[in-house]
Amino acid sequence: MEYIVKAKSIVTMSELGVIRGGAVVVEGSEIIDVGKYSKLKTKYSRYEEIDASNCVVIPGLINAHTHMAMSLLRGYADDLMLHEWLEKWIWPLESKMNSRDIYIGALLASVEAARMGTTTLNTMYHYSPDYNEARAVLEVGLRGVISHVCFSWRKDEDFKQLDHLIKHWHGKENWRIRAAISPHAPYTVDPDYMVELREYADNVNKDVKEDYERVIWHIHLAETKNEVDLVKQKFNVNVEEGVVKYLYDLKVLKEDVVAAHCVWLTSKDIEALKKANVKVVHNPASNLKLASGISPVPKLLSEGITVALGTDSACSSNSLDMFEAVKLAALLHKGTTLNPTVIPAEAALKMATVSGARALSWSSQIGMIKPGMKADFVIIDFNKPHLKPLFNEVSHLVYAVKSLDVRDVVVDGKFVVENGELKTIDEEWVMKEAEKVKESLLARLHGDN
Ligand SMILES: [Zn+2]
Repeated sequence: MEYIVKAKSIVTMSELGVIRGGAVVVEGSEIIDVGKYSKLKTKYSRYEEIDASNCVVIPGLINAHTHMAMSLLRGYADDLMLHEWLEKWIWPLESKMNSRDIYIGALLASVEAARMGTTTLNTMYHYSPDYNEARAVLEVGLRGVISHVCFSWRKDEDFKQLDHLIKHWHGKENWRIRAAISPHAPYTVDPDYMVELREYADNVNKDVKEDYERVIWHIHLAETKNEVDLVKQKFNVNVEEGVVKYLYDLKVLKEDVVAAHCVWLTSKDIEALKKANVKVVHNPASNLKLASGISPVPKLLSEGITVALGTDSACSSNSLDMFEAVKLAALLHKGTTLNPTVIPAEAALKMATVSGARALSWSSQIGMIKPGMKADFVIIDFNKPHLKPLFNEVSHLVYAVKSLDVRDVVVDGKFVVENGELKTIDEEWVMKEAEKVKESLLARLHGDN
């Protein structure tokens, strides 16, 4: 398919900046040209024209940390202490989920994410060969990094699942789907297993040429205050200098590591993140709701560490809304530092686009709008009272746009959402199935009592 999108403005997030009266030209799955519409319209006169002249086009948003299947548990239990929430509510219900439930949860998450302008998700959950999150992301037409989450207590099973996931899904659909390895956290994966998972990744990646061919590591790290004590108690290891430094000394951290949260960091931890070129994912809504604390994002950015953005699961933030994450990231740190100049709008939007791509080892294909990149972009309707007048596109995108202002979503050149309508899958069916799975999970849970 060849087409030209005529927009009010293109916020490219690349060296091309913001182009007013701009156009994006797409051939197949790629962006082949970007510039002023007045110049491009004659050059591509035979291409189908998509009118977005009341709209702003941005790169597709990248949700760099989530657990898609957990959308099924949205609103099941809120406002509880972390351990009570997990042990009394979340884990018992999760233990009843089968692979088809996981698939339905991931379909629901994909549909939600797509409608809200997210084109790429990095998800951590249990993989199984028959039904899984990869299949859901593929069917809805999004881009995703799908991992299998690993725990010390099920090593042998984990390696089987990782082998299957990588063999069957990594690079699927012209690299729209990739696989990842997820050591759950430093307190659930023992040091020997951490090292084994590092060796496993290095072996899988030994012949990689392009960044996106890499099977990345996706881990929870330094999320809560007591994580250091938990690791020490469980494995009797030295974590005096911090939990990141502990992994650094195990030699498992490198540039392919995506570390979610990074809230409780020592100065040695920050040094280790920097030296190993680990990518951090900030999840402001989840950290606030679970009262985990606030990640020192301005400090990390000033150290030159890549910080991407995520929503975490819809179970801990109740929404996969990346516009909400962007706004929270821009606001939160101003409040805690008493400094309105930290994380300006442009930096917050960069976290959800350019830095998200960098975190997922995907910078060569996504995160920016420029020739040669994959055609992953979002068209946002700016003809709304809450978006008038327009001085500055980036300001509106961060502080005023609502995710439901998204009109169209394009992934790999294809319209996943067109004029507000989901094109790839029967959305009503997905919502009904999600309700059915909820009922069935509750029945299974109560059947045990
Ligand atoms: Zn998480």
